[in-house]
Amino acid sequence: MRKLVLPFMFAVALNSQVSFAQESQPAPKQSSSFAGTDSPEALREHVPVLPAVRAKYWNIDPAVGYGMKDFGNGVYALSDNGWQSAFLVTDAGVIVFDAPASYGKHIPEAVAKVTNKPIKMLIYSHIHKDHIGGSVAFKNIPGLQIIALDTISDFLKEMNDPNRLIPTVTFHSAKTIKLGGKTVELTQHNYHSNEGDLFIYVPEAKFLMAVDSVTSGYVPFQDFDLSTNFHQYLKMFDEILAYKFDNFIGGHLTDTGTRKDVEITKEYTNDVYQAVKRIHNGLNERAFDAEIAKTIGPDNEFLIFKALLDRVTRDSVAELEPRWINRLAGVDVWLPSHVRAALIYVRWDDKE
Ligand SMILES: [Zn+2]
Repeated sequence: MRKLVLPFMFAVALNSQVSFAQESQPAPKQSSSFAGTDSPEALREHVPVLPAVRAKYWNIDPAVGYGMKDFGNGVYALSDNGWQSAFLVTDAGVIVFDAPASYGKHIPEAVAKVTNKPIKMLIYSHIHKDHIGGSVAFKNIPGLQIIALDTISDFLKEMNDPNRLIPTVTFHSAKTIKLGGKTVELTQHNYHSNEGDLFIYVPEAKFLMAVDSVTSGYVPFQDFDLSTNFHQYLKMFDEILAYKFDNFIGGHLTDTGTRKDVEITKEYTNDVYQAVKRIHNGLNERAFDAEIAKTIGPDNEFLIFKALLDRVTRDSVAELEPRWINRLAGVDVWLPSHVRAALIYVRWDDKE
């Protein structure tokens, strides 16, 4: 996920408006997934964040800019209710996992609140600016190792972005780090960004970080979290669940997660995929195209094809929205984009 601006204070400021809207507005006439965003009326057709999700927002002091949670066995989670990262304290120093652009500059002070050990390593989950664009704050840490996949390092060297420090230690697909009595297992996956994604696992703490995979309490971000590979994204859930973990960080939004959050997002994703596949494959395309051609003639092939893709999208959203709108937050915001991502996969990559 690249740009995501959801400051906690903004959400709090909306509280009164949201409850007013709930009490006084009639239920939306059409699917709220197709409500727009370009007028106050259109925005009010969307549903508020589910109360169970809202209840888990971290209480973050805006003057500090981030919150911290102790997961035990040396692992600490950080969040500003928009982005999430973590660090591991060992007897020989600290290993930092990601440095988000939004609060990365505060990470050294967060570490100093819980230990006087020096920061020894910084690990990048993937190349995206929003997760590692705060690394520049680590520039003057003496002897710091910056660890990433070789593909990530190659990309960052090419970009030469002053906000994303170049890795100093690279590896190809897997690496195990031992430091001060603790272990960090890094494994390459390909569910999100073109240059690869890392699972970051601390077995002693039963902690797993898989950034831009699952947003606990919410559906994934747009297009299944901007996945460049939906085939791998579908496999990602079982790859995560194969680990023994109690605490999970997906990199975004308002709470960290557990196995349950991964399981429900897996169920949602598979439901979207299966519904889109059934509806797409069940449509009589010849008859549909002929019906559209009655209005516009047969020569505008792009428009006829768009009408078909739009029809599958609308039917899929209409079926899926009622099943999920009260189970995960953000269904009405991103469901149409999830359906389109699944539709591209179903039509161009999948078998019948
Ligand atoms: Zn990303």
